[in-house]
Amino acid sequence: MQIEERARNIALLILDVDGVLTDGGLYYDASGQVSKRFNVQDGLGIKMARSVGLECAVISGLESPAVASRARELGIAEYHPGHTNKVPIIRDICSRKNLDLAQVAYLGDDWVDASAMRLVGLPMAVANAQPEITALAAWVSKAPGGHGAAREAIAFILEAQGKYAALWEKWLRGS
Ligand SMILES: [Mg+2]
Repeated sequence: MQIEERARNIALLILDVDGVLTDGGLYYDASGQVSKRFNVQDGLGIKMARSVGLECAVISGLESPAVASRARELGIAEYHPGHTNKVPIIRDICSRKNLDLAQVAYLGDDWVDASAMRLVGLPMAVANAQPEITALAAWVSKAPGGHGAAREAIAFILEAQGKYAALWEKWLRGS
């Protein structure tokens, strides 16, 4: 199946955190607190996607208060931290939302994402993903993780679904 055809079916985009929504950097302060750097354009993309019926979920291998805050701020209802095996969570989300796996896209960067990417209808990788992950992906962003890769993935899906131009017109009008 053509990549655009696969993208047309997508109702849920699952995003990894470290290396996808962030550049993978972990900033430790003297007390051991970790902070991370997110991309504001990815954030707006996630809100835009939701406004036209493309939901974004976040599954992270790590537990992080910083990520929990960011997920809350972006209104991400499906935020699942602390899962290195992402497959059961994806299956659970799909069964709760009555989604077929063909309707799910997954954007990843590293080996922890491999089994999830093999499961879903549209596996996607960031530009600087590990080579094995790039090989599993049907689509690869031009931007690296944490630098607009998620926004680019969202734009690709919405473009394939014929929703992108109308969304832009709406913002251009300011309505
Ligand atoms: Mg990662």
